[in-house]
Amino acid sequence: MMHLPGAARVGAMSLLIAAALAASSSPAAAQAPQVQAPTADGNAVIPHAPYPVSARAKALHATIPVADLHADALLSNRDLLQRGTHGHVDIPRLQEGGFALQGFSVVTKSPRGTNYVQTSADAPDDMTDRIKRDGWPPRTWNSILQRALYLADRLKDLEKRSHGAVRVVRSKADLRKARQDRAIAGILLSEGAHPLEGKLENIQVMYDAGFRILGLTHFFDNEVGGSLHGVSQSGLTPFGRQVIPQAEAKGIIIDVAHASEATVRDTLAIAKRPVILSHTGVKGYCDTPRNISDATMKAIADHGGLVGIGYWDAAVCKPTMKNVTEAIVYAVKLLGPEHVALGSDFDGGTVTPFDASEMPALTSALLDAGLDEKTVRLVMGENAIRFFSTYLPDR
Ligand SMILES: [Zn+2]
Repeated sequence: MMHLPGAARVGAMSLLIAAALAASSSPAAAQAPQVQAPTADGNAVIPHAPYPVSARAKALHATIPVADLHADALLSNRDLLQRGTHGHVDIPRLQEGGFALQGFSVVTKSPRGTNYVQTSADAPDDMTDRIKRDGWPPRTWNSILQRALYLADRLKDLEKRSHGAVRVVRSKADLRKARQDRAIAGILLSEGAHPLEGKLENIQVMYDAGFRILGLTHFFDNEVGGSLHGVSQSGLTPFGRQVIPQAEAKGIIIDVAHASEATVRDTLAIAKRPVILSHTGVKGYCDTPRNISDATMKAIADHGGLVGIGYWDAAVCKPTMKNVTEAIVYAVKLLGPEHVALGSDFDGGTVTPFDASEMPALTSALLDAGLDEKTVRLVMGENAIRFFSTYLPDR
C-alpha cells in the first residue's frame, strides 16, 4: 500500500473507507474496518499476547518454504539486517518466520490526498519532500525511474551485506540456487509502472536493474492505465497495451494490484501468461474500495494467476488473526487452493495483527480453521515458489 507521510494519511484514508462502506448497499461478511492508531511511520503491529501455535502446526510450518508476494520494507530507513523494534520485516524476522521468498516492492510516487476512492495523479507528490529529507541522491528527486533504481540498489546492497542470507532472484536458476543455499529469495516488484516514465525502452532498464514483477498502477491513473483508486476508472491505455507484451516477452510478471476493474479485464484479455495480484483482500468477504469483485478475482485465477491476501484493515476489514484466516479460507473456496498466496503489504504504512516472525501462528490458525495440510502448504508458500519457478526467466 504505502501512503505517505503516514499517520495523518491513514486517518484520512480510513474515514474515506468508512464513508464508502456506509454508502455501500451490499453487506460485507466481515465487520466494517477499524483503523488502529499507527506508529510514527504507520507500520505497527497491534499489541497482542503470543498467538497459540499447536505442535502439529509447528511441525508442519518447519517444512514449508514460506513466501510472501509484497512487502514495502525497502522504503524503511531501518537497517534490514538488524531485528527492528518496529515495522514488520527485516532479515532476522523473515528467518524466524521461515521465509524462503519475499517480494520486495518499490513505491515511487505518493500524491497528496492519496485515498482508496479517488486519488488524483496531479496532486503534489509527498514523496519528493520525504526522500530529500531522508537523504536520497539528487538524481531521484525529479525522476520516478531513478527512485525505482535507487530502491532496487537497496536490495542489492542488502544482499551484499547479508553474507548469503538474502539473494536477489532474477531467474529460475537464481531461485533454485537460493533454495539450495537456504537463502531468502528477494524478488523486486515495482508498485505501478510509472517508473517507465512513458517510455517502452525503460522496460529494459528496469529489467537490467533486476525488476521481475511489474505492477501496472498504484493509487492513481498513470501512463499504462486506470487505478482502482484513480479518477478515470478506465482500462489500459494504448501505451499499456504495448507494455504488457513487451514485459512478458522478457519474463517480467505483471501485477494487477491497485488496478481498476477495467485495467484488470483489459490485461487478462491480452496477457499471454498468468498475472499476480500481489496484495489484496476478497470483496465477498470484506467489501471495501481496496478490493475488486469476486468475479474479477476469479478471472485472474482462471487465467492461471496467483492472489496474495494481506493482513491490514482495508483488505480484511479488521486486522485480526481471525479475519486474516477467514479471508484466506474464503479466497481458497472462491479461487481454488492453487491460486491463493500471502500478500502481507508489511511495512506499507499498514497496521497488522502480526509481523513476519509470527508466521507459524498463521499456519496454526489456518489448520484450526479446517484447511488441510496440503492447502496450508500451498497458501503459505508453495504456490508462490511454484509460480516463480515456472514464470521467471530461465537464467
Ligand atoms: Zn499497495
